Amino acid sequence: MQSLNDAFKHCPSLTLPRREGRNKRRLLRHFISPSPIIVSLLIISLIMSSCQQKTEKFTTGEKKLKVVTTLFPLYDMAKNIGSDKAEVSLLLPPGVEAHSFEPKPGDILKINEADVLVYTGKFMEPWAEDIIKGVVNKDLIVVNASLGTKMIPAAFSDSAEPAESLDPHIWLDFDNAKIMVKNILKAFQLKDPVNRNFYEQKAKDYTNKLTELDTLYKMTLATCKDREIVYGGHYAFGYLAKRYGLKYLAAQGISPDAEPTANDLINLVEQIKKDKIKYVFYEELTSPRIAETLANETGAKMLQLNAAHNLSKNQFDQGLSFFDILKKDLDNLKIGLQCQ
Ligand SMILES: [Zn+2]
Repeated sequence: MQSLNDAFKHCPSLTLPRREGRNKRRLLRHFISPSPIIVSLLIISLIMSSCQQKTEKFTTGEKKLKVVTTLFPLYDMAKNIGSDKAEVSLLLPPGVEAHSFEPKPGDILKINEADVLVYTGKFMEPWAEDIIKGVVNKDLIVVNASLGTKMIPAAFSDSAEPAESLDPHIWLDFDNAKIMVKNILKAFQLKDPVNRNFYEQKAKDYTNKLTELDTLYKMTLATCKDREIVYGGHYAFGYLAKRYGLKYLAAQGISPDAEPTANDLINLVEQIKKDKIKYVFYEELTSPRIAETLANETGAKMLQLNAAHNLSKNQFDQGLSFFDILKKDLDNLKIGLQCQ
């Protein structure tokens, strides 16, 4: 077996990911916790794969584009734009809560072997920038899907969220989602110009579906008797509520990591009683216990509102799309807010 020193000799330009601050501690945990042998093997494979990387800039139009995405909406967009000309993967394993996800060494290898990496932005994936700085594959095109989107300030409820944070749930404003599609399209066309018209048409189809969904939301939500979403989860639906003129109250800030205080919950219970709220919504892939507490205290019923960060294994097996999730959400909003 080749030693680490040998590998460096053959590939002197290798740099490992730079790790800083909170991400440094998180990533170090991943690198250090397995046995040193496994870590060395992983590092060597990283070195070898980077040394063997072909340096050709563009594909010929015959090879499938290798695309790595970090979040389900990006995966769904990339899969549809790339269709049979791209091999798209999602870093998040099925059922994993997106905000608490941290990449493993195997994920870093996957990124190094890809043609295109698509991530949402630094507020959704705080680990991404350090990984990108450490990427050794010089031909990788990195797409920050949030570029050009209109972002709103994050609702912060604790010190873990700095005041300058922006709300990362940009895909829940369908105009922003269209900009994300454009950003992905540009990268595909740059990497595989032979198929640029093909990707353009697929992106257009996806954008048209977003327009249809937006119209359906506008028409349905304009008819609701109640106009207040109470969410027993994190602040994921700020964009959606703003777009359709709804009031939005969430028990947690922009990440489900932060626990609501007893006072936050008491205030929400009072608000639900005062506004005679009939349904409390709960989120996907985390325990619904906050919503349960609110429902038990107020007699409200519960309905799911899925922000589509990721899918459960079952949903993946069923092949659910971003549009399937958002249409189900609209069905539940229709019941919960008493729309026609
Ligand atoms: Zn979220």
